[in-house]
Amino acid sequence: MTDFAKTRALFNLPEGVIYLDGNSLGPLPRGASQRLARVVEEEWGALLIRGWNAAGWMEQPRRVGDRIGRLIGAEPGSVVMGDTLSIKVWQALAAALKLNPTRRVILSDTGNFPSDLYMADGLVKLLGDGHSLRTVPPEAVAEALDETVAVLMLTEVDYRTGRLHDMAALTERAHAVGALTVWDLAHSAGALPVDVAGAGADFAVGCTYKYLNSGPGGPAFIYVAPRHAEAAVPALSGWLGHAAPFAFDLDYRPGRGVERMRVGTPPVLQLAALEAALDVWDEVDMQDLRARSIELSEAFIAGVEAACPDLVLASPRDAAARGSQVSFRHPDGYAIMQALIARGVIGDFRAPDILRFGFTPLYLTPEDVARAVEVLAEVMAHGAWDRPEFHRRAAVT
Ligand SMILES: *Cc1c(COP(=O)(O)O)cnc(C)c1O
Repeated sequence: MTDFAKTRALFNLPEGVIYLDGNSLGPLPRGASQRLARVVEEEWGALLIRGWNAAGWMEQPRRVGDRIGRLIGAEPGSVVMGDTLSIKVWQALAAALKLNPTRRVILSDTGNFPSDLYMADGLVKLLGDGHSLRTVPPEAVAEALDETVAVLMLTEVDYRTGRLHDMAALTERAHAVGALTVWDLAHSAGALPVDVAGAGADFAVGCTYKYLNSGPGGPAFIYVAPRHAEAAVPALSGWLGHAAPFAFDLDYRPGRGVERMRVGTPPVLQLAALEAALDVWDEVDMQDLRARSIELSEAFIAGVEAACPDLVLASPRDAAARGSQVSFRHPDGYAIMQALIARGVIGDFRAPDILRFGFTPLYLTPEDVARAVEVLAEVMAHGAWDRPEFHRRAAVT
């Protein structure tokens, strides 16, 4: 059994805060501060340029990729780190389209994160080759899969509602009509058990600063199924994805397997923070994590529905159909969330009317959830949110 009291002790959480936004930016693992200080002083500071060889900086994107791979059910050697998620979406999509050259449609859903759709749109316009991006409601994806579809590009867990797609079933259906799949695991990796190899996913991507706690700006990951790894064409053909970067050839030759999805210089300090953050996961069983996440989410839903009749559940009621977040709707959701944050309960707001709460068993307890419900009930009961300062919009919501 995973010891969640032990994992909680590994995080540096500010006094008086109940943090329900680890789905947007994970908190600081204690080990990350120490690791960063050590890498800065002993590696960057002392080794200088020698760090690339002596401290293993150059292999770090693959080494860390394998540790992420364990959390998403990927084969060893099939995941590499780098860049941000938007870039990895573009890379995966470009490679998938190239592997299915007679088709022109990218199918996605209206619940997908805008950046994923924007990247697809930008790629379609760049290709100028009759490609198009088609979006349908999340429930309509399976029936919209037909023989025109080149690539099914979905985010497994909807960032707004927490709605969870059936990755294995949709991948099977996509393959049955001759389409490839790109799965975005932004709200899945570290949130619930994932099995990309078992599901037969072709490509998967995700970020590490949400449930994996790598810190603001932490690098993304990309998975390429081993059966495609030697055929996938890297559209972003940077020198570190080259077969021999230090040969300084004038012609590009892709590196072996997933190595070719590297682009440029890896973010060594961010990767060091991520490596320390991943130490926390070494003793976590993903089935235990899922059970605890459901327990916390169910308690929150029951508590809020009993105490706050004006908030309407926006997430699926069936726990099996949800990721690790719960959302409620209210026309004044923004101000309500600001009032809640002012009282130390931190969630976030997603336009137009969603109050979003993430449930992260590594550092949240049932007592935290009960207390968060009490504070939300206080905020709602007396209209405490309806003050000018809570209506003023900040740049980041
Ligand atoms: C968080 C998130 C992103 C963010 O992309 P970045 O390039 O890392 O800023 C993209 N897609 C999805 C589905 C997300 O949840």
